[in-house]
Amino acid sequence: MSVKIKPAIIVHGGAWKIPKPLWKKHINGCSAACRAGYEKLTAGDTAIDAVTEAVRILEDDPTFDAGVGALLNLLGEVELDAIIVDGNGTTSGSVAVIQHIKNPILVARKVMEMTPHRLLAGKGAELFAEQTGFKKCKTTDLIVGRELKRYARLNKNRKFKIPDAFRDKKGGTVGAVAIDSNGNLAAATSTGGVPKKLPGRVGDTPILGSGAFADNRCGAASATGWGESIMKSSLTKTACDFIYEGYSAQRAATMAIRDLQRRWDGLGGVITVDKDGNLGMAYNTPQMAFARIAGSGRFRAGIE
Ligand code: ASP
Repeated sequence: MSVKIKPAIIVHGGAWKIPKPLWKKHINGCSAACRAGYEKLTAGDTAIDAVTEAVRILEDDPTFDAGVGALLNLLGEVELDAIIVDGNGTTSGSVAVIQHIKNPILVARKVMEMTPHRLLAGKGAELFAEQTGFKKCKTTDLIVGRELKRYARLNKNRKFKIPDAFRDKKGGTVGAVAIDSNGNLAAATSTGGVPKKLPGRVGDTPILGSGAFADNRCGAASATGWGESIMKSSLTKTACDFIYEGYSAQRAATMAIRDLQRRWDGLGGVITVDKDGNLGMAYNTPQMAFARIAGSGRFRAGIE
């Protein structure tokens, strides 16, 4: 007789210095996404369905740096990156520098399910989205006033360096990891990237093992933070490798962030779930927004 696992999910809304007046919106956004994902899990849907739904909701929430509300590149445009990973065989789908699409996570999922590829970028990703039934939106549909102001402000600031954004003001990338009652693990991450990025810049988010990773034999992880450093550490693969070696989801998250900091001088956060359904989270930025529902059904959300 196969033992049923109790489903669990954790979502994040980015790791940076989140100002107090914004806490409520971040906590509410993460909570709504987490609850929606959990509802899928308790209805018997898969971990992939749960993380897709959680990230889609976060993309639609203008509070976060993903979908609507994304940061702008140096030309004042929105270019989005997203990834989804199925722990059953570690199959994944990603899109990078995609424009005119409201929910890149849904396109990433189609890349995973309908193509022999892992990552589609730019025009090709947009063409694929159109051909698979996604409606194109106007760039202006994705841009919010907060980001226009940031764009104007940062254009004048010659001293600004990208890692500063994670020690100070940025806007949060989003992600989710989950385990379903059959023990399947999944991870998803979506972002508008970093402030003042060059057009065409691809961060860690759509890269398997950096922005997200999942393997049913050990765990799943979703990352946020300074992408150029996360790519050096392969943050989510590193976290899952620690789980593979026998560490719990929490311990693995802590060790992966320690590696990011000590070895790569990086900045970021990671959420994890292990194959036993334990959840974890760690970061070395000032704060990280999250919401989680453990196997026991216990809900917790906040900014730590
Ligand atoms: N990791 C994302 C990137 O570098 C940004 C973030 O997580 O806030 O594109």
